[in-house]
Amino acid sequence: MCPHCQAADRQVKAGRSRAGSQRFRCESCRRTYTPEPKSRGYDGQKKLAALELYAHYYRVRYAARLLKVNPQTLLNWVDAAYEQARASGATDDLAARIVARRGMELRNRLYRLGFGQQAEAIPAPER
Ligand SMILES: [Zn+2]
Repeated sequence: MCPHCQAADRQVKAGRSRAGSQRFRCESCRRTYTPEPKSRGYDGQKKLAALELYAHYYRVRYAARLLKVNPQTLLNWVDAAYEQARASGATDDLAARIVARRGMELRNRLYRLGFGQQAEAIPAPER
C-alpha cells in the first residue's frame, strides 16, 4: 500500500534504495517509497528507544549512556524526528512529546542568545 495516498493497487517496483531495499512507485500519486527500509548503522529499535527516553524527559547524556550511543547521534535522531513530526503534522503521542520538548529547548536557546522574536515563532504545543 502506498504510504502517501494509501492506494493499494498499481504499485510497481522502482529500483533499490541506497541500503539495498526494494523501492516501489505508486502509479496513482507517482511518488516512490521503501516499504521496509533496512536500517543503515544503528538498528531501528535503538533509535525508537532513544526517542522514547527523550520524549519522557531523560537527560540526553544519560539516555545516550543507557543505550551506548553518542549523545550527538541521539540528538540527530531527535532533530530528524522533530522535523518530520512538524512537517507531517504527526499527532501520535511520541511525536507530540518530541515536538513539545525539542521545541521548548530550541525556544530557550534562542531566548538565551537574545533572539526572543525568533523564539516566539517556534510553536509551543500544549502538553
Ligand atoms: Zn500513492
